[in-house]
Amino acid sequence: MSERDSGSKPAGETASKTGEARGYGFETKMIHAGNQPEPITGARQTPIYQNVGYVFQDADHAASLYNLQTFGFIYTRVGNPTVAALEERIAAMEGGRGATCCASGHSAQLLAFFALMEPGDEFVASNRLYGGSITQFSKTFRKFDWRAHLVDTDDLNAVRAAIGPKCKALFVESLANPGGSISDLEALAEIAHAAGIPLIVDNTLATPYLCRPIEWGADIVVHSTTKFMAGSGTSVGGCVVDSGKFDWAQNDKFGGLTQPEPAYHGITFYETFGDLAFTNLAHAVALRDLGPAMAPMNAFLTLLGAETLSLRMARHCENAEKVAGFLAEHPEVAWVSYAGLPDSPYHERGQKYLGGRYGSLFAFGVTGGYDMGMRVVESCELWSHLANIGDTRSLILHPASTTHRQLTDEQRITAGAADDTVRLSVGLETAEDLIEDLGRALERAAAAGRKAAE
Ligand SMILES: *Cc1c(COP(=O)(O)O)cnc(C)c1O
Repeated sequence: MSERDSGSKPAGETASKTGEARGYGFETKMIHAGNQPEPITGARQTPIYQNVGYVFQDADHAASLYNLQTFGFIYTRVGNPTVAALEERIAAMEGGRGATCCASGHSAQLLAFFALMEPGDEFVASNRLYGGSITQFSKTFRKFDWRAHLVDTDDLNAVRAAIGPKCKALFVESLANPGGSISDLEALAEIAHAAGIPLIVDNTLATPYLCRPIEWGADIVVHSTTKFMAGSGTSVGGCVVDSGKFDWAQNDKFGGLTQPEPAYHGITFYETFGDLAFTNLAHAVALRDLGPAMAPMNAFLTLLGAETLSLRMARHCENAEKVAGFLAEHPEVAWVSYAGLPDSPYHERGQKYLGGRYGSLFAFGVTGGYDMGMRVVESCELWSHLANIGDTRSLILHPASTTHRQLTDEQRITAGAADDTVRLSVGLETAEDLIEDLGRALERAAAAGRKAAE
């Protein structure tokens, strides 16, 4: 959960070991936060606690654990030491107070909203989100009687207008998948806070290496750790980070945090746990009852990935810039939406929020539309055709025929997945090899298109 509640460690010990009190730098946090030598054997790497239950010291200890009067481990659905190490690490990397890891990025979104929403409630979200999030919000969440208003979050007046009395949150991606738009986090946080609601930011594509949304006013950060955080395409996972800064009692919108919880002898989370209220609720209620626990093995692989995040992201960005530059000049390419290109409408915003680097994911348009998009993908040899991003390997996809095919035409186009769109997740290979393979695929696809037209 966080340094204070990950088992038997005395409070404060982890904070000094991870240097948080002394303000260690990002790279130090991504290696050391949440990790100490294992006390019995001295093992330096975090052990994989491939384990379900934890022995109670006695009946009183068990009772106080169940009453949330003592922090500790009960059952891996609600907490596990390897998962707790990852929670502490991601919280440190994001500058948050606590974190909750879970089975996937989508379950992170579910946990974040579950803590805030009641049936009949609403939230406002960007209409340029990852296609899977648009489907989750606009179809599956309707079954909980939650309503998402999808708006163009670059239009600040439209955002203000969409926030009604039942609205409980504003949700955006820092760097959007696949369109590459960058959210104006500072302005959006101001609008959310004026309405008494938290700003939730999906920071999957930017990662805390490029952007730490909490520093710009975000209250909750969600991740698909499946992508760059784990980094090698090995493990599906998610994480919700709470800044610990939002005042849940400023209005009567957030009863889950401010009203007595009957299942826990009538405690109120905010009164009892203060800045850890959200994180404790996410474990003790949301993970307990919804059940999407992260597997210990996946937590271990994600901890391992996090150790090299800064090195990988720097190279991902460098390679993406080279590939985007090549495509921008290519005669068979109609457009490139990479914010790293100086003529991108998001270039300046990326200097502010992403430190002048623009991530590894972007889209481009082919001259020959839907058919040519599919043919380019099929003609690549080095680029893998699959539905994932953030791998060490370079990945290519035609969203209109795959990830975004469940959306309406209008939703697809707004989400940056038109017929001619090809999405790239640029990996860590030799940039020249990536460029050569993509160039050959474009020429082959264009030639096949000309032949088909004859
Ligand atoms: C992949 C992704 C998700 C969903 O994450 P899963 O781990 O696949 O459940 C959410 N948001 C963004 C931006 C993503 O790229």
